[in-house]
Amino acid sequence: MQADRIVTNGRIYTVDPSQPWATALACRAGRLLAVGSDHEVLALAGPDTEHLDAAGRLVLPGLTDSHVHFLQVAQRRQQVDLFGVADFAEIRRLIAAAVRRARPGEWILGWGWDENLWDVVPEAHLLDDLAPQQPVALARMDMHTWWVNSHVLALAGIDAQLSDPPDCKIERYADGRPNGLLREWNALALVERVMPPTSEATVLEWLRAAQRDAHRLGLTCIHDQRVEREGRQSLRLLQTLHRQGELSLRFHVNIAADFLDEASVLGIEPGFGDDHLWLGHVKAFADGTMGSRTAAMLAPFEGELDNSGVTVTSADALWDLANRAAAAGFPLSVHAIGDRAVREVIDVLSERATLDAAAPLPMPHRIEHVQLISAQDLPRLAQHGIVAAMQPVHLQTDWHTADRVWGTRARLAYAFRNLLDQGTILALGSDAPVAPLNPFLGIQAALTRQDSNGQPPEGWYPEQRLTLPETLYGYTMAPALLAGKAGLGGSLTPGKWADFIILDQDIFQLPPAEIGATTVAMTFADGRLVYAS
Ligand SMILES: [Zn+2]
Repeated sequence: MQADRIVTNGRIYTVDPSQPWATALACRAGRLLAVGSDHEVLALAGPDTEHLDAAGRLVLPGLTDSHVHFLQVAQRRQQVDLFGVADFAEIRRLIAAAVRRARPGEWILGWGWDENLWDVVPEAHLLDDLAPQQPVALARMDMHTWWVNSHVLALAGIDAQLSDPPDCKIERYADGRPNGLLREWNALALVERVMPPTSEATVLEWLRAAQRDAHRLGLTCIHDQRVEREGRQSLRLLQTLHRQGELSLRFHVNIAADFLDEASVLGIEPGFGDDHLWLGHVKAFADGTMGSRTAAMLAPFEGELDNSGVTVTSADALWDLANRAAAAGFPLSVHAIGDRAVREVIDVLSERATLDAAAPLPMPHRIEHVQLISAQDLPRLAQHGIVAAMQPVHLQTDWHTADRVWGTRARLAYAFRNLLDQGTILALGSDAPVAPLNPFLGIQAALTRQDSNGQPPEGWYPEQRLTLPETLYGYTMAPALLAGKAGLGGSLTPGKWADFIILDQDIFQLPPAEIGATTVAMTFADGRLVYAS
């Protein structure tokens, strides 16, 4: 059989244990026809075969980011980027510049700020003098807290008389006036409902640009988290792109727990869709975040004896959800950051997994983040086949904060090694736009346990480091297993999708601290070139 395309003279790392390394591969009709030696693959070439000489460069399976908020990635590309800005004066300069560019009354949106980097408490008045006429709403890096100006508070009707909606917090001065910080979704929703909508044509253009970014970074698949507020528009517009033949990235799309009943009534099951766009898990939230100190903790945060975090979905409600999901055939994906949230989610999912043992769901249950786990819970994910979906790149920005708010408990924060040694499948990702989408930053962080300045010098709890093959598994085969696509993706194996990337650098030869700067020369999806540098 003649190949459409062959690649020879590569250093191909397949992630397939039956043949970890090869020099050549052949594709036909979007699938891998052969993976092996140049000699074997050249035999499949015919007059119409496109032949690419990889010139000895490293070839990997296309990478998967197993935790992305894709519509928000697309939106954030357009907003004021405050990510990693440690100088508060620079924050004010960036906002002032955006105000100058904006039309009167136009909303100024930004994201990525982290008050842990400043000696200033963000409050509305610090934006009011910059933008007295314009609404300003700035999402914290974890997206669970917004910092808004007085104009926004007025538009949204948030004042001293308004009491907090359930499961959220409007931060206030002692006299009850809101100070401009809004925590968790029900508070943010007060603002979002007064924000002007963006045209669909514009959002489609943003999605196309974000897809190009993903391919430039070596991604060929993502697991889209789709919290409820972005769900409908996101899935509709992805279908529009797909209908127009423009979807080259693969999307495993989660369903917000709020909409489980609707999916169930229609008889929709996980995996519904096709090779580019399919439905995945039912997504729920057990707690908040570490940075906002709303993660649900077994013991209080260091120095805050009355704060053990926030429960977003109680264990009882989660159990009810897991049962309704199982009845509809869906596995769960649950956000859990603090050690109490992680324990409660394992309690529910393990009990559910035991009930499901006779008729397993098409995809395993998953816990998102697992940022802190108690020692006694370490073996329990593997015991029940629960996947840990973790984001190594977060430790670069979080390790200082984790040490401060969790103290010595942080030795089991981002406990990659301990979890892996128990047999836990680790599906890795970025949580973009909470962190940059670039998977090579995450690979570097998993290998070094250091931030972008090389701190701490010996690595943060370096005993938790992963090896490069373990990490690559987390960006390839593990997410494929998690998506029920192990027979189609995750490794360069004949018969699977012809999704692969060619790198400019050989990350097996680089010092780990330099892997984050890796650049992708070419990205192929379905055997087609979708990005070239
Ligand atoms: Zn997320």
